[in-house]
Amino acid sequence: MKRICVYCGSNGGGNSAYLQMAEEFGSLLAEQGVGVVYGGGSVGMMGAVADGALSRGGEVIGITPNMFVEMGVIHQGLTTLKVVNTMHERKALMAELSDGFVALPGGLGTFEELFEVLTWAQIGLHQKPCGILNVAGYFDRLVEFLDHAVQERFIKESHRKMIMVEESPQKLFERLLSYTAPQESKLF
Ligand code: AMP
Repeated sequence: MKRICVYCGSNGGGNSAYLQMAEEFGSLLAEQGVGVVYGGGSVGMMGAVADGALSRGGEVIGITPNMFVEMGVIHQGLTTLKVVNTMHERKALMAELSDGFVALPGGLGTFEELFEVLTWAQIGLHQKPCGILNVAGYFDRLVEFLDHAVQERFIKESHRKMIMVEESPQKLFERLLSYTAPQESKLF
């Protein structure tokens, strides 16, 4: 696994554990020799992931639409910064350059990015692992809702199992490495 795409909040949330874990996860990826692909931000969880990886000499690729560059919220110390025109181009390039996806705590942007790659996985557009780092129980109710959606037969069990949820960054990383994509497509 060469690079992992990290989706997370553009702010740090209301618990210092979130920012702490963002930095720790960035460091862990760098120590494992895995590059980070992310949205390029200098602030919040995004900035902390990048700082963590860069502090351990890791590769960090930021991908951003021009609007965030103009707003002055893009990290200045990245290995590579790719500036694109639209949010859609950004997400497509982030997905293309990455071998797996991990969501850390965040808001609407984070949810949207995570669910997009999951919906692509369930129709077989990619076979890359997708995980959630459940820091301080932040995602507990989302995970409960996903299970509810399985019970109500809107999500197949095999597709629910694609979503690896762990509290430990090390454990999540190991699961990403050993992941095998389900055979069952949403379409049949
Ligand atoms: P959220 O989880 O709602 O905080 O959104 C995080 C996502 O929103 C990021 O991955 C970006 O797509 C976008 N975003 C919002 N603010 C920024 C920012 N200051 N710098 C870069 N991306 C941002």
